[in-house]
Amino acid sequence: MRIKISLPLETFAGRADRMAPGAEVKIAPDSPLKWEDRRVGTLVSAMVDPLGQAVEVVAEVADADAVRALRADGWPYPITLPTVERLAEIIDGAPEVPGMPPGKWIVYSVGCCWWTTDVRDSVHSSRPGAPIPLCPTCGAPLMQAPAAKFIAAAISRPDHYGPAGLEAFLAAFRAPCHRAWTDYEIPEV
Ligand SMILES: [Zn+2]
Repeated sequence: MRIKISLPLETFAGRADRMAPGAEVKIAPDSPLKWEDRRVGTLVSAMVDPLGQAVEVVAEVADADAVRALRADGWPYPITLPTVERLAEIIDGAPEVPGMPPGKWIVYSVGCCWWTTDVRDSVHSSRPGAPIPLCPTCGAPLMQAPAAKFIAAAISRPDHYGPAGLEAFLAAFRAPCHRAWTDYEIPEV
């Protein structure tokens, strides 16, 4: 399983501006990174952030549990899991919401791409007596669906979300909305 890790430049020995995708990266002697003992996994590549503030590294690890163990261990740098693993974490972290039936729910827009796991992210119409939850960006009405079923359906048809596939679906989670999946800007990996 491939993960992305964002690391500060001082983690690396040598000049970061010489790094390019696929370049061999030398780790500074005092770095907390331990590629050599496979605490993180096998280093695949490194890319320099255009702003020069961080280096994004792609590493191969056994599975998501290895990443969770690292985090539990106090791993200090951001790790981006593959899309399907991130979607699983969204279901795991979905709250039970007072006023909703028991279980985990997705609330999604019928007029744009916005979705959330928490109905409290929505705004409400002012219609007296029966407020309708609405997308907080564009005001489109919302629907709800069981979380696991909704995400399983998305995973089963990544083509629905355009060339970026599930990355576009994930980009719409709790973010300012767009009408079309192709409107989400997805950084290339
Ligand atoms: Zn919207």
